[in-house]
Amino acid sequence: MTTLTTSIPVQRVSKSRIKEVDFNNLEFGKYIADHMIVADFKDGKWHEPTIVPYGDMLMSPAMLSLHYGQAVFEGMKAFWTSDKNINIFRPARHAQRFNRSLNRMCMPEVPEEMFVQSLHALIELDKDWIPTSEGSSFYIRPFMFAYEARLGVKVADHFKFIIINSPVAAYQAKPYRLKVEDHYVRTAEGGTGFAKCAGNYGGAFYPTQIAREEGFDQILWTDHKEHKYIDEVGMMNVMFVINGTLVTPQLNTAILDGITRDTILTLAKDMGMKIEERRVSIDEIEAGLKSGAVTEAFGTGTAAVVAPIALINIKGQDLAVPEAGPSSFQLRVKEKLNNIRMGKEADTHQWNYII
Ligand code: PMP
Repeated sequence: MTTLTTSIPVQRVSKSRIKEVDFNNLEFGKYIADHMIVADFKDGKWHEPTIVPYGDMLMSPAMLSLHYGQAVFEGMKAFWTSDKNINIFRPARHAQRFNRSLNRMCMPEVPEEMFVQSLHALIELDKDWIPTSEGSSFYIRPFMFAYEARLGVKVADHFKFIIINSPVAAYQAKPYRLKVEDHYVRTAEGGTGFAKCAGNYGGAFYPTQIAREEGFDQILWTDHKEHKYIDEVGMMNVMFVINGTLVTPQLNTAILDGITRDTILTLAKDMGMKIEERRVSIDEIEAGLKSGAVTEAFGTGTAAVVAPIALINIKGQDLAVPEAGPSSFQLRVKEKLNNIRMGKEADTHQWNYII
């Protein structure tokens, strides 16, 4: 159990909106909890965060983030554990990635302590919004953007750091049909792929829309130079089981350092699985799917934990991935991770932050 070390001023809502929430039908991101936390970076320093009612904000049409894209976010989750505590999963690791993203975008870092304490205070206040049904969670969205109004192209001096939260149901997606992208890129080495900045997502919409029109669910992103090596899938990291070894593309500046990726690699080692982080070529996956060496392919991310892949279209051929049965690695590791987050299994890596 962790206690708050700072007292954060709170302006409470006069009337909660929680009665408007249909907890049996939670569409992802539809409902935002009553309160948000807001902190300003101005005059070269952070000002005290405050908790205020969630609602619209006053912004200038000349706000720099709207024009030059200094906007960064995180996506993380909190849960009720089986013994009725609130668990925020790996907040320090999210704080560290947030700061790597901020650095890349010339934005000031948020001190890890301020990030974690802000989450703690806000989630504790809105705890009634954390859903209780199996697999559901509180989706947490910390973000930061240039707030200064000025039209000249420049690094902003005034930023806002905000956290908002949303109750979400257990993720249910049908196994993906993937298009290997051999024209567009999500990002490039030396670019911003390793940062969770807003523009990466806006830029991916168009190629994803084309893939959907062609009958696919998501894109398998490949390297920007040759479209030969695999980077990520949609907005997730990607993993394969090849001849019993867990294989995933090694990190580079085009790939987001997924927290689920790191968690699954660590658990795989604990489970005695051999792991390899290395370049993975489309040719290797094509040959492996044809020979049967590739037995599993799945995406990893906070929203889904694991998202099975059903099919990969390579050079015009639909290559099926075997269906993930109950003894598959992806379902076993997903269960193990859920058990750790729910407090049903020992948290040997200190990933849980229990309020
Ligand atoms: N890659 C991209 C591009 C992402 O946006 C995300 C998160 N949504 C991931 C990978 C997975 O990261 P995490 O496991 O930290 O959610």
